[in-house]
Amino acid sequence: MIQSEALAGVRPFSDKRIAVRVTPDALRHVKRGHPWVFDGSIVSESFSGEAGDLAVIFDSDRKFAAIGLYDPRSPIRIRVLHRGRPATINRDFWREKVSEALGARADLAAGNWTTGYRIINGENDGFPGLVVDRYAEVLVLKVYSTAWLPHLVELLPVLEEINGVDAVVLRLARNVSSSPTFGLTDGQLLTGDIAEPVLFRENGLIFESHVLTGQKTGHFLDQRENRQRVRERVRERAEGCRVLDVFSCTGGFSVYAAAGGARLVHSVDSNESAIETARRNFVHNQVDVASATHETTVGDAFDVMTQLSRKGDRFDIVVVDPPSFAKKKSDISRGLRSYGRLTDLALALLAPGGTLVQASCSSRITADDFYDAIQTAAVARGTVLGEVERTGHATDHPIGFAEGSYLKAVFARS
Ligand code: SAH
Repeated sequence: MIQSEALAGVRPFSDKRIAVRVTPDALRHVKRGHPWVFDGSIVSESFSGEAGDLAVIFDSDRKFAAIGLYDPRSPIRIRVLHRGRPATINRDFWREKVSEALGARADLAAGNWTTGYRIINGENDGFPGLVVDRYAEVLVLKVYSTAWLPHLVELLPVLEEINGVDAVVLRLARNVSSSPTFGLTDGQLLTGDIAEPVLFRENGLIFESHVLTGQKTGHFLDQRENRQRVRERVRERAEGCRVLDVFSCTGGFSVYAAAGGARLVHSVDSNESAIETARRNFVHNQVDVASATHETTVGDAFDVMTQLSRKGDRFDIVVVDPPSFAKKKSDISRGLRSYGRLTDLALALLAPGGTLVQASCSSRITADDFYDAIQTAAVARGTVLGEVERTGHATDHPIGFAEGSYLKAVFARS
């Protein structure tokens, strides 16, 4: 296999392993499977390595406990790749781990119904700080720590071996883009050739993924099952269902609602190009969405919802799927207030007996606090909200540790 030229300038990781001792607390967490060691938990290191060097954590008997990726610039100083017995981190190691991850998604890979899904969900699949999403023949590799860059040389050929993969795109998280990247850039093609947008299927519906420049890796794959639930709820209702999709992005929920037989679907997002994609996604599914009129508004969700409510517009289903409101601990109470405000605005727009679908992707906000904020807002406006279902990530987004669980959603009837 020809090595990707794009990776030719990447500094190899050191031949030497950094021998690390950590606090007893951190050692206990690592042995139990936690993937992170924070800088404050390091007691000693044999030398101060570069991003991507391998760190071996020893226990108090000087026995091997774990090996991980070292990152001197991140508060997460070590991302654990393997624990228990000593292991060599090479192409064979990656091949085994990738094959495990693929095995867990075998049901999605079978057939043509869903061709866009997550292959590697970071920490939760044993790849701390790395996500790989598949859109038909294209893989998008999103890197959240520069420590991964020197290892792409061995990992990339393994990804290229995956059945039907023609191209691999590199996406860099913001913190990585602002660090030294050996000339690698966000949206760079590592192998193959692509024409943007890449079309893929999700539960039989066709979507565009803007893999080079779109948000995340080009599509929010984690909501696949919640979108399907919305399609089913629309199907269950009598004819003429009206659906409002707030923070619609490229119209994931909107297309499913229309495909379920909605009469009217209104998508709202502040990002104009996302709304343009949403319109095109309706065109890609012309036959399935024929029953629906698609309206769109580019604007601030809070303002648009207030205006629609003043106009007297009412909907049978309102979907509210905002971006994360709490990236830091100090954002939590403000975030919860925003969720409550959105619940209030959504309930004002719901027709009697309508369904609210509200989601949160803030990992800092617990599911209980989120559900509480929704109920508190409902009580404050005198609405009795009957919870139908609480849900989370799609199955290709497994959760391996507490911080890995970020998405929660509630389906509730007013
Ligand atoms: N529901 C979408 C994903 C939503 S992601 C799906 O199923 O794919 C969050 C979206 O909120 C992004 O598209 C972003 O552009 C939009 N957004 C962020 N702030 C906003 C605001 N104040 N008003 C409207 N949209 C906003």
